[in-house]
Amino acid sequence: MKISEILKRDGVTLSFEVFPPKTHDKMDVVIEAAEEIAKLKPDFMSVTYGAGGGTSEYTAEIAKRLQEEKGVTMLPHLTCVSSTRDHVKKMISVYKEYGLENIMALRGDIPPEGTPNHDYKYATDLIADIREGGDFCIGGACYPEGHPQAPSRAEDLKNLKTKVDAGVDFLTTQMFFDNEEFFDFMYRVREADISVPVLAGIMPITNAKMMKRSIEMSGTKTPRRFLQIIDFFEDRPDALRQAGIIYATEQIIDLIAHGVKNIHVYSMNKPDVARDIEKNLAPVIGSM
Ligand code: FAD
Repeated sequence: MKISEILKRDGVTLSFEVFPPKTHDKMDVVIEAAEEIAKLKPDFMSVTYGAGGGTSEYTAEIAKRLQEEKGVTMLPHLTCVSSTRDHVKKMISVYKEYGLENIMALRGDIPPEGTPNHDYKYATDLIADIREGGDFCIGGACYPEGHPQAPSRAEDLKNLKTKVDAGVDFLTTQMFFDNEEFFDFMYRVREADISVPVLAGIMPITNAKMMKRSIEMSGTKTPRRFLQIIDFFEDRPDALRQAGIIYATEQIIDLIAHGVKNIHVYSMNKPDVARDIEKNLAPVIGSM
């Protein structure tokens, strides 16, 4: 099913993300975790894509298996900046052959040594190839606090508008820990005449190492209240896990109370975390 159709439904949608393994011998572990998450009956699940394309076939395989065997609508990601056009086109045809109807179109991070190929510069360049390759629903990424490489938030928003106009059906945000950043962003998005649904991306932080790495990579701001929780519980893993789940739950409840309809959880192959979040939210989502 196309995610654009799912997003038209009344009520709140909840989706989860998994990532593929680096080597094939870990596929079973990842599939098992993804299947556990699928049991929660999310509105859809996404599978990330290695920027260099090294694990592209794993992304496709996980998405295919989950969709066929568990009946979950899947959203495989596709990055372009480190790939040749031939490889990207091949992946689009694999997704089509596997019956996948949705693709998350991304640029990918530019490796420190620079990009080996120059077929694509921006995610926008990928949209036309996806449209040409089949009748896909296309998602794109957006950054409430601005993309780290953008000269300004205004410039980033202008580029986002170009990307959406090229044929993006919905957007998912980078993780954020301060809902005010999201509300401010949404105001600017609608002012910029971008009208596609925007899914709020929430990352439940369940260990301090993961938080430091995620924040380093994304440049996301950390509110004082959140930092205090991480600092205080850093050496108490069970307490930190619980605090991280409660923080993410509260963030989501506040978003829903402000009329946000679509929540995407970066569940990081952790079925227990996805389960706890889903359980906390069930009465809230069920009431909508
Ligand atoms: P773009 O939309 O191309 O934007 C990148 C930068 O270029 C921005 O600064 C933008 O302002 C600028 N720009 C865009 N168009 C133009 C233009 N025409 N002229 C000038 N400047 C322009 N990475 C992975 O490797 N695999 C994944 O699976 C993955 N999934 C992600 C999912 C989400 C929801 C998010 C938010 C990010 C994800 N990423 C993933 C990370 C992403 O690849 C990086 O953040 C990357 O740096 C930017 O990708 P993008 O698609 O947003 O790029």
